[in-house]
Amino acid sequence: MYIGVLALQGDFLEHAEMLERIGVRAKLVTSPRDLDSIEGLILPGGESTTISKLLDSSHLGEFIKARQDLPIFGTCAGLILLARSITDGRADQMSFGYLDIEVRRNGFGRQIRSFESDLDILGLSPTPMKAVFIRAPVIEKVGAEVTVMASVLYNFEGRDARVPVVVRQGRYLGSAFHPELTSDTRLHEYFLQSVVRSR
Ligand code: GLN
Repeated sequence: MYIGVLALQGDFLEHAEMLERIGVRAKLVTSPRDLDSIEGLILPGGESTTISKLLDSSHLGEFIKARQDLPIFGTCAGLILLARSITDGRADQMSFGYLDIEVRRNGFGRQIRSFESDLDILGLSPTPMKAVFIRAPVIEKVGAEVTVMASVLYNFEGRDARVPVVVRQGRYLGSAFHPELTSDTRLHEYFLQSVVRSR
């Protein structure tokens, strides 16, 4: 079985390496025919505006939409691409809208654009997971069908708020951070076992 990693821009190689590390063959997806052999797809972190443009010009966006049964895991920019609604994006930025969430790009503020946090994630073994956030989106609203699997308490200029950072809705999984940048493979394994293979 192959899991595809959208390889238009961003840190797709790190995702591919992580998949290989958990014993899954990774297929770098750069053209529509790469979608034929895959049973799940990862949308990596990077720049969602750029990835959006490339999805459009390569027609990959349309072909991904046509594969309606495909489980998808989006991380950071990839999460933005899965969101129903994007604030502070570009006006022409596309998203698949598969996760009923509203996100704000770069929503953790200008000064602290990157941070780390130890997360307890629902459905993963109890040891917290180290999460690396890099100019991450803030999930501002989640719909009733969305399960929040982890959240962080964050101080927004004096106001504390709990922000969802791992969400799932059926075959769609998203994280606001970069699980591919640490050596912890659990979220990739979760996607494989509980999202892709359980279907
Ligand atoms: N800020 C980026 C965007 O809007 C996401 C950052 C990332 O993927 N690390 O697309």
